[in-house]
Amino acid sequence: MLDNENAQPFLFDDIRPTPPLKMPKTVTWNLWHGCLKYSEGCRNCYVYRQDATWGRDSRTIRKTAQFNMPVERRMDGAYKYPPGSLFYTCFTSDFFMGDVGADRWRRDAWRIIRERSDCAFFIITKRILRFLDCIPDDWGAGYENVTIGVTCENQRRADERLPFFRALPIVRKAFIHEPLLSPLDISAHLFPGVEEVVAGGESGADARACRYEWFLSLRTQCESAGTPFIFKQTGARFIKDGRLYVIPRRLQHSQAVKADINYTP
Ligand code: SF4
Repeated sequence: MLDNENAQPFLFDDIRPTPPLKMPKTVTWNLWHGCLKYSEGCRNCYVYRQDATWGRDSRTIRKTAQFNMPVERRMDGAYKYPPGSLFYTCFTSDFFMGDVGADRWRRDAWRIIRERSDCAFFIITKRILRFLDCIPDDWGAGYENVTIGVTCENQRRADERLPFFRALPIVRKAFIHEPLLSPLDISAHLFPGVEEVVAGGESGADARACRYEWFLSLRTQCESAGTPFIFKQTGARFIKDGRLYVIPRRLQHSQAVKADINYTP
């Protein structure tokens, strides 16, 4: 039985003080905007929610004004973003989405990523099955400065995407389980070399609830495999000890930090 949804959100407040957040030097690089819903995790996509408030159709894919951002230069000729910057790509789309425009723009994106070999790029995708159709000719065993994170929101998608992912020529690999929609057994998929497993709940008014024990299980599996685990955020509806907590957006990350279940080998 679940308590009503007005329960206080401070489920982890008395466990430990919040450690200071480490803020890496990160930049969001949104190459194109718009996406097509692809699997279960897309149901409450925040891109669609945001666009709806502006009356925009999220299914129309358009290149953004940020496209050349990593290679922009200052007046003195130096790159605007210094060596060592970490670019998180495509947060209102999917880097590997099948679209006439995106398939064409991606070729230029790879050229930019290659030019900035002094920076790191993090690409998160649900469309890993398209990967081999989307890499540049000189990809080889993978660019050293690119991490590919594959999102698997439930067991079905983990079993479908992770074995394929394992076999791909990619130097840096990560698993993303966000929004986590079910318990997950990834133990058979946790191959050596996975750099991190990141998990979190779903945000938004219609968020599907996730359970604390799902994250504890993932942490245990990661610990057994010696793979780093990050509990990134609780999501808006979080069940712990049979009680449903409704967590405001501003507390979803800090509550996950307070849970203190991240694992570093
Ligand atoms: S892949 Fe990501 S951006 Fe695209 S519809 Fe799904 S959740 Fe939204």
